[in-house]
Amino acid sequence: MSVRTRFAPSPTGFMHIGGVRTALFAWLFARKHGGQFILRIEDTDKAREVEGSIAHIIESLRWLGIEWDEGIDIGGPYEPYLQSKRVESYQTYARQLIASGFAYPDPYTEAEVEVFRQKAIDEKRPFLYRDHRPETFGEWDGTQSLRFCIPEIKRYTWTDLVRGELTAGEEALDDFILIKADGLPTYNFAHVIDDLEMKITHIMRGEEFISSTPKFLALYEALGIVRPEIATMPVILGEAGTKKLGKRDGAKDILEYRDEGILPEAMMNFLALLGWHPSGDQELMTSAELIEAFDVTHLQKGGAKLDEVKLHFINQHWMRQLNAHDFIVRGNLEAPDRALLERAVPVLMERAQTFDEAREMLTGELAFLFNAPTPSIESLTEKEPADKSTTTKEALLSIKELLAGSTVSTAEDAKALLMPLADEAEARGKGGRGAVLWPLRYALSGQQRSPDPFTLVALLGVEESLRRVDSALAIL
Ligand code: GLU
Repeated sequence: MSVRTRFAPSPTGFMHIGGVRTALFAWLFARKHGGQFILRIEDTDKAREVEGSIAHIIESLRWLGIEWDEGIDIGGPYEPYLQSKRVESYQTYARQLIASGFAYPDPYTEAEVEVFRQKAIDEKRPFLYRDHRPETFGEWDGTQSLRFCIPEIKRYTWTDLVRGELTAGEEALDDFILIKADGLPTYNFAHVIDDLEMKITHIMRGEEFISSTPKFLALYEALGIVRPEIATMPVILGEAGTKKLGKRDGAKDILEYRDEGILPEAMMNFLALLGWHPSGDQELMTSAELIEAFDVTHLQKGGAKLDEVKLHFINQHWMRQLNAHDFIVRGNLEAPDRALLERAVPVLMERAQTFDEAREMLTGELAFLFNAPTPSIESLTEKEPADKSTTTKEALLSIKELLAGSTVSTAEDAKALLMPLADEAEARGKGGRGAVLWPLRYALSGQQRSPDPFTLVALLGVEESLRRVDSALAIL
């Protein structure tokens, strides 16, 4: 049987990193086994629905590089892939359960159920709907909610692909609602039917579903179906590593990472390592390498800490794999001089861990590349030696002489050309090489800190460097 996995988000408007990681693992697993990956939208809770969510889900997955074989926007053999459009299907299975005595219409009003619930609270015992199950079942006209008649109250033990043997039971089993009075199914019912009809072989989902699993198992039994395998994902913990990363603890939507300048290949690499580790030492992996190495049974059971330092490290690695053109385009980088921007890419690669940082550098610490600085005389002469063995003016004049007519294009060229001047200054007296290198660097950048002067000459080019040296000489 071919592997079929699915990602089944609810359209609630927020793509939590945990949800995206679940999608990634389901996708990697399907790809690894040459199977299919399906995108289904679970929209039966209309109260929680947020407009635009489906487009947001699609955009998020596409950005990351996860493609699906069947799903909401592209259809497929088991369409529709939107639960609210599958009502007929749920009705069919509901009628089958009624016919076999496993479902019945709820005879109580909400107020009556509330009285039962309150009584249980007063008597300090758990409220169980099944304690009030009617002796005989009425006709279901579709306007009452339909409840599952739990066939047997027992403990269930099942094998989870990640966590091994799990067990839960009696306390989780009650006559839960299959179809609500509004005609829509509950998650508990709908996903079981959808997985059956869509021939899903493996379910990847969060830990929060473990406690409900006995309900699903009872339903599989009542329907007489072979259940899919279940793989429970490790929880994602906040930076402190102590509790589940929730929205309130600053959990971000996946596209916020995109907007901060994280590359999708880096995000995918990072997410894959959140709770999983390849058997070797190599952590920096392409999607093809991840598919090749992925093994769902090697997911960790315990929580995985979200570590943004690691994300930035991984991102920098993937940023450095780009050529200058792609670096600029994919980073949305803008600057007044395109050729100069291209030459500055290695400097950005060296220093920036995200494109946000690269963009900030271009308008911040590296803005001087594009707009000539106005140097101050104090800073310019800051390293002039007390013995005046090399004056700043002399230094700049000698530099000017060497630069004019030279064909410097790399930092190495600039170093070969100008370093002898600095060496001579060092040999001559106090102040060392700084007597030459400082005024040059400062004249070119106007900054107390910047890349080294040879890199600057190469970036700015001979002509612009000479112009800046001249401006510095003019104020001396
Ligand atoms: N709609 C559920 C959710 O968003 C999916 C759970 C599942 O994968 O079964 O949490």
